[in-house]
Amino acid sequence: MKKIKVSKFGGTSMATSDTISQVVRIIKSDEERKFVVASAPGKRFKDDIKVTDLLYQLADEIIHYKSPDTFLIIKQRFLDITKHLSLTFSMEHLLDTVLEEMFLHHTLDFIVSRGEYLSAKILADVLDFEFIDAKDLIRFRGSKLDYTLTQKTARKFLKEKENVVIGGFYGATPSGSIKILTRGGADVTGALIARAVSAKVYENWTDTDGFLMADPRIVENPHLIDVMTYKELRALSFMGASVLHSDTFYPLIKAGIPINARNTFNPSCVGTFIYDYVPQSKSKNVITGIAGLNNFTLIIMEKHLMNEDPGFDRKVLSICEKLDIMVEHFPNGTDTFSMMIESKYLTDDKKDLLINQIRKQMKPDTIEVLDNISLISIVGRNMMTNKYTMLKLFSALVNTNITLRMIDYGSNGTNIVIGVDDIDFGYAINAVYNEFIRGEH
Ligand code: ASP
Repeated sequence: MKKIKVSKFGGTSMATSDTISQVVRIIKSDEERKFVVASAPGKRFKDDIKVTDLLYQLADEIIHYKSPDTFLIIKQRFLDITKHLSLTFSMEHLLDTVLEEMFLHHTLDFIVSRGEYLSAKILADVLDFEFIDAKDLIRFRGSKLDYTLTQKTARKFLKEKENVVIGGFYGATPSGSIKILTRGGADVTGALIARAVSAKVYENWTDTDGFLMADPRIVENPHLIDVMTYKELRALSFMGASVLHSDTFYPLIKAGIPINARNTFNPSCVGTFIYDYVPQSKSKNVITGIAGLNNFTLIIMEKHLMNEDPGFDRKVLSICEKLDIMVEHFPNGTDTFSMMIESKYLTDDKKDLLINQIRKQMKPDTIEVLDNISLISIVGRNMMTNKYTMLKLFSALVNTNITLRMIDYGSNGTNIVIGVDDIDFGYAINAVYNEFIRGEH
């Protein structure tokens, strides 16, 4: 692995001249930070508007031949950002040229991509790094990212390069038409570049210290996760805990390039590292994190001698599939089969339709519907090999008087999912957190 770090800076890191100066300090403090990926300027305060959102507004104005009023807001924003930075070019001139190009190209993708383009131009100039246009590296086929071609193109283009800044979130088709990724896609650009240059680590700098062991809105001052596996990250993000564009990280992790989530505004914190595999000796805790989601419906079917009808589960699931209902979990017993479904899929009509079809086709003895259920995922790569895991989990719930509605004992070896009533959600998370994490620190 080469001594190269790819460092991606999110929108809040690029929001003001002060934050950009902080980014510069971070990059300059480590000479391995040779490839930098920048997002468009993000929010400066809670109700601020991200530059990318302003650009969507401007795109609507330009494409529909309205007066491009939003451009003035964007222009002022960039002029404010660069006011205290000493640039070697005129920002005002660059912005006016970009506006002309927006009219010329006249596509949403081109217009929206300019936030990252301008951000990267500014950062490259203050760092005295080379600016490389992402259109020469990130390849699309139609409007879809072409992973293989991107790797080939970027690897070749960046072979002899170092100390460069690239705008995230966009690329181009082989014929040169600019395309954007989905929202938050600068993360993806960073990952693609890290793979292309065989970086030793992909740093993802945002405004939080890394991943927390639980949602701080539920648990007071949760600990930071120092190390986790990609599988654990997936299990946590599936329950709504993550903001990373996770699918694109998989090839990166498989190639042995870890992700390091870090905080621009607290660089002394080493953040969270994500690997494909973490040896047991590196694991302090039995569990890595807890995440959860509300508003599920549990449907429990009972039928005498269900086990003699081996197609029962499949037939019920195919009724769901035909009605376009996603089933999250389906724990079963000797004569019972249940399904945990996100309640949003079960509008009144659909719920009645589903129950009627199950009654008609499957003829269960009973069918019970429980609404307002929460799912909580307890994640930990070593949980299954620890003989006290279940004891601790049950005692945490019993001691807080929480009724367990469902349990799915980690078929993937990484997580246990429990179902509790929505009103018990916060209590259950705190109980599990206190038992497993506070108890161990
Ligand atoms: N600026 C883009 C967005 O707001 C991409 C990114 O920041 O990752 O979605």
